[in-house]
Amino acid sequence: MKDLIIKEIQAFVNTSPLNYSLDKRYKYFYEPQVGFASINDPLFLQYKEKIGEFYLLPTDWLDSEFGPNTSRKGTVISWVLPINEAVIATNRAETLLPSSEWSHVRFYGEQFNRALEEHISKFLSKSGFQSIAPSISSRWQRVYSDNVGHASNWSERHAAYAAGLGTFSLNDALITERGIAHRCGSVITELVIEPTIRQYQGIYDYCLHYNSQKCGACINRCPVDAITKDGHNKDLCFSYSRTQIKPAVNEIYGVTTPGCGLCQTRVPCERHIPGK
Ligand code: SF4
Ligand code: SF4
Repeated sequence: MKDLIIKEIQAFVNTSPLNYSLDKRYKYFYEPQVGFASINDPLFLQYKEKIGEFYLLPTDWLDSEFGPNTSRKGTVISWVLPINEAVIATNRAETLLPSSEWSHVRFYGEQFNRALEEHISKFLSKSGFQSIAPSISSRWQRVYSDNVGHASNWSERHAAYAAGLGTFSLNDALITERGIAHRCGSVITELVIEPTIRQYQGIYDYCLHYNSQKCGACINRCPVDAITKDGHNKDLCFSYSRTQIKPAVNEIYGVTTPGCGLCQTRVPCERHIPGK
């Protein structure tokens, strides 16, 4: 089943019309990376302790959808969708607002990502395994907590870290083998699949700042100083998006969630693990 699932994800990325720009000139995402984590990986409990009570464990998602103690075994299937290099190049040239191509990936590309989650969840269900995609579930919630600021009750980046796909970064994103410019998605299933072996020990292994103290390129890319050597200020970042970016571009670009991503482009980790 593991190979079948990977092929199903790849086929959807390669053939779905939703993965094409509105004018059909380019694809939003190229070859996906796919990883697997046990729903009982102790990391998920550690996430709950750090993020807060509102964070739901993989077992919580299965139980809340299919009944208490539905499954004590299963897998979190996580994927990373690397953004088309031509799109990345357009955002690299920007210094204040995201390019229209980048915003379209954030808005329409994310719709494709959600469609992929629905597709894989249904594929598994039809194969006889109860499955749920948290980000398209009615139980998914955006949360603001004193502890971690803007958050939600499921984190795609944390799922990807657990599934061996990459490590966190100074700007609060995830650096993968294909870089930091991507979108992530996931499905939780009762199907047991051998977990991916994580090729890292620490949560910041791939970020130069934490390993050599020499990079910090993302700090200079942020127009509102939301990144410092101490980390990422989510409130400043969120506020810039809401009060500056959205009013400036939403109508022109024809989106409601434009993203920003300046700190994910024209940086050494843009398309690969920096230093490797
Ligand atoms: S630009 Fe440098 S400091 Fe910022 S996330 Fe990438 S590797 Fe880390
Ligand atoms: S996404 Fe946020 S942190 Fe990154 S450059 Fe934009 S405003 Fe700054």
